[in-house]
Amino acid sequence: MSQPPVHAPGNCIFCKIAAGQIPSRKVYEDEEIFVFDDIHPWAPVHFLMIPKVHIPSMAQVEPAHAALLGRMMALAPRLAAEQGCNPYPEGGFRMVVNTGTEGGQEVHHLHIHVMGGPRPWLKG
Ligand code: AMP
Ligand code: ZN
Repeated sequence: MSQPPVHAPGNCIFCKIAAGQIPSRKVYEDEEIFVFDDIHPWAPVHFLMIPKVHIPSMAQVEPAHAALLGRMMALAPRLAAEQGCNPYPEGGFRMVVNTGTEGGQEVHHLHIHVMGGPRPWLKG
């Protein structure tokens, strides 16, 4: 029997995290969005924001996703502050969305990295 392709939704690690089938340190959850700590943090604060629906990357985003992505963007500053990022402008945070292999994407379920906290960071 053939195996499903690595990036199929049924075999997606972030779909499984959002469904609670793989453990994570949950930061936030609502009907559409799941947020959890990155397992290999680059910075004192480093969490990932994902839509619960399986969108592989920014390359598949369509106008119908605008409200969902807008909600994720608008939620980020609140969660960044709650997770320990220092206030703007001396503090702040970095948001990164790697897209595709040349864009540095390793997990093919759309995610926004949110990184912050006092320097130095491990990376970034
Ligand atoms: P990217 O290179 O943008 O696709 O980033 C994928 C991120 O997912 C990396 O920063 C990984 O450390 C993180 N990651 C992979 N597996 C897990 C996991 N099980 N729990 C939390 N973060 C993960
Ligand atoms: Zn997925």
